[in-house]
Amino acid sequence: MAQIIDGKAISAQIKDEVKEKVAVLKAQGQEIGLAVIQVGSDPASSVYVNNKKKACAYVGIRSLAYELPEETTQEELLSLIERLNHMPECNGILVQLPLPSHINEETVIDAISPAKDVDGFHQDNAGALCIGRSGLVPCTPAGIIQLLVRSGVEIAGKECVVVGRSNIVGKPVALLLMRENGTVTVAHSKTRNLKEVCRRADILVVAVGKPKMINRDYIKEGAVVIDVGIHRMENGKLCGDVDFEDVKELCGAITPVPGGVGPMTIAMLMNNCTEAVKVSAEV
Ligand code: NDP
Repeated sequence: MAQIIDGKAISAQIKDEVKEKVAVLKAQGQEIGLAVIQVGSDPASSVYVNNKKKACAYVGIRSLAYELPEETTQEELLSLIERLNHMPECNGILVQLPLPSHINEETVIDAISPAKDVDGFHQDNAGALCIGRSGLVPCTPAGIIQLLVRSGVEIAGKECVVVGRSNIVGKPVALLLMRENGTVTVAHSKTRNLKEVCRRADILVVAVGKPKMINRDYIKEGAVVIDVGIHRMENGKLCGDVDFEDVKELCGAITPVPGGVGPMTIAMLMNNCTEAVKVSAEV
């Protein structure tokens, strides 16, 4: 049986570390505030937003909640972001995605001041990550690196295969693995011989968005498997992009779903709020 990489425990450890950093900043007179903007009332988004508020309360970050109606115009949203960009008591701005279809997500993300872009999606932060400059890093990919490092998995020199090339998971995680000196291959829907490519991996990161797609045929014996996917099955239970039961005897370590990558995203968001304070001080 593979080692289970416990995202719940590791994320709790990170949140406790952030709590201490927040207390130190408070003692120096620096309060931290995170603005979370939700447009519309998509139930899944509401759950995520509530979890973010709870995490803020735990670590001592003030959360400023903006719950806007579905019919909010792009101009109204942009003007709120502009106000928050100039508000000293707001250090981080997060716009919960997806946005209603009449609002252009790229325009909205790029309106956020890069120094307050705690999701790390702004083109300046994406570019900084690409060329190895400092900046705010997307939370899920940063969480994946923490899961590996804190579980004692060495990345340097390892064959890393990332399945998926989205801007929020696949691409940034590939860049971070490269930054940690992994040898990285990025696979996607046009990749030929995907099973063969995946079987090269010492570290396999799966972010395809297809329930249980990755079975034992894709896994090299002893590989470390990070499953980013999250899906609700018909029986109400959650599963990932990896068929956990099928691969668990073959791989060396694996993240479960739930309790793997999922909890790391919010922990790293809290960490990014403290990073944003540092970035603002440098600007
Ligand atoms: P996207 O749908 O944006 O990207 C999916 C990627 O997988 C694309 O690059 C696509 O390739 C590739 N892909 C799709 N089908 C195949 C296939 N058959 N073979 C090879 N590659 C394929 O998804 P995200 O990156 O946003 O999310 C991925 C998963 O992670 C989802 O299940 C999502 O719910 C979950 N997620 C979990 C988070 C967490 O906190 N735990 C956070 C974010 C996401 P192409 O580019 O060619 O289309």
